[in-house]
Amino acid sequence: MPRVLHWFRGDLRIHDNPSLYAASQQPESDLLTCFIVSPDQWQRHDESAAKLGLVKQQVNALQESLQRLGIPLYLVRGSDFNEEADLICQLLAQLHCDQLNFNEEYGFNERKRDRRLVERLQALGIRVNRYRDQSIAPVGSVLTQEGRPYTVFTPFKKRWYSLLTTFDSAPLPAPSRRAHPIKQPAVDLAVWHAVQTRETTFIAGEVNAHHRLATFIDDHLPAYDQQRDFPALDGTSQLSPYLATGILSGRQCLHQAFQLRPHTANPSGIDCWISELIWRDFYIHILYHFPDVSRHRAFKPETEQLHWQGEGRAFDAWCQGKTGIPIIDAAMRQLLQTGWMHNRLRMICAMFLTKNLFVDWRLGERFFMRHLVDGYLPANNGGWQWSASTGTDAAPYFRIFNPISQSEKFDPQGRFIRHYIPELAFRRDKDIHLPLERPIPGCLYPLPIVDLKTSRQHAIDAFKALGRTDRSSDQRQTTQSDLFRSLND
Ligand SMILES: Cc1cc2nc3c(=O)[nH]c(=O)nc-3n(C[C@H](O)[C@H](O)[C@H](O)COP(=O)(O)OP(=O)(O)OC[C@H]3O[C@@H](n4cnc5c(N)ncnc54)[C@H](O)[C@@H]3O)c2cc1C
Repeated sequence: MPRVLHWFRGDLRIHDNPSLYAASQQPESDLLTCFIVSPDQWQRHDESAAKLGLVKQQVNALQESLQRLGIPLYLVRGSDFNEEADLICQLLAQLHCDQLNFNEEYGFNERKRDRRLVERLQALGIRVNRYRDQSIAPVGSVLTQEGRPYTVFTPFKKRWYSLLTTFDSAPLPAPSRRAHPIKQPAVDLAVWHAVQTRETTFIAGEVNAHHRLATFIDDHLPAYDQQRDFPALDGTSQLSPYLATGILSGRQCLHQAFQLRPHTANPSGIDCWISELIWRDFYIHILYHFPDVSRHRAFKPETEQLHWQGEGRAFDAWCQGKTGIPIIDAAMRQLLQTGWMHNRLRMICAMFLTKNLFVDWRLGERFFMRHLVDGYLPANNGGWQWSASTGTDAAPYFRIFNPISQSEKFDPQGRFIRHYIPELAFRRDKDIHLPLERPIPGCLYPLPIVDLKTSRQHAIDAFKALGRTDRSSDQRQTTQSDLFRSLND
């Protein structure tokens, strides 16, 4: 009997999984699945203990769901991407499979790995089927009239909507139980040895993800546009950890939102949320068309000439939530304590690090990846390059958020600040946003490490001084991005 192997990677679900579903539609074949535990590679890609904790829990949950369907999941211990290709070849031989299925991934190294693997398997006469899964609009499908990728969000979104009926965005069902079930292999917990994990409030399982999605849609989606910017409210879905690990797909989210739309008098909350899902698609498309962004390169090459600060006291204070700017510190403490941070705060913290402290955005990007439970390369890189004004459709360099006015606007009573900085709980609402002017006896909260006004001006001057460099004639020698690349490749 022919045998198909589906390789789980960033698609840790059985529902709406194009590759798994297609493999299950071959009734004449046996269906097997595998997952590679790669601690070295994960460390090199700065995957956080919080995210890996969720991944580990989810792989266990998958094993149980697949068992009910009579589909075995083989866990294999690997180290890096080069080895993963060897392991897949060995596994295919060991399990007597003659076909490999997987959903594509778009990071630079992931694509190199898959290209080499496909060449090897083709030479061995093994069929390989790859599927486009990560974004709602398949990568490569949203192009300008001239066939070029979009680099600005609004026209991308317009085109995305105009093509919506052409994408197959209806979620796929889970495979049905196999006519000839195969027993699960014995679980070897040793494969997880050396993988650092951490528990968060995000619990794995497709059922849990769908429950969160349904609750959000019923209780919060209609008012999403009014509430999403206030970190003290439960105004956003907090589905990002599920989307980042593939426990949930963008198509499933879109489908649920569309179900509600005809029954809503004012769909502005729904449309605003769909727009965020399209931002996710936009950044996946950017990574696909410009893979250099996953190699620590600024999207705008001229910004590589900026003399960013490196690690040091300012960066350390930011990492620890001890900058003396209350909203920044509260946000960074939320990240450290929960593994998650509200979107508005991600923007404020990233802009503060890159503009007021003038620290290299790549350091912030890496720190976020190392701590976020939803660390996701396209969105994290996109968000950092947006905030640093180095990216595609980025914030103009002269439009720098003032963290204090952002705090006054989006946390008016200081509820969020008080929760994460109990040292400041005694302050009045109107003062809670402000840095301390002098030490207060008995209060351990630090004085501000930077003057917001002069540091803002310094950033503007530095950007103003940049010359323009053409992307194609980019002749840089050793730059900060090269240094990062050699560390992480
Ligand atoms: C500096 C910075 C770093 C970021 N790093 C990440 C990251 O590592 N992983 C990540 O998933 N998102 C990242 N984002 C985007 C955004 O902050 C999070 O997706 C969002 O806060 C997740 O919360 P939520 O699930 O409640 O979002 P909701 O508001 O409910 O949005 C629904 C989903 O849409 C997607 N989404 C929302 N906003 C964005 C956005 N601006 N860009 C891309 N996708 C978006 C997410 O998948 C999110 O779960 C980053 C943003 C910034 C500014």
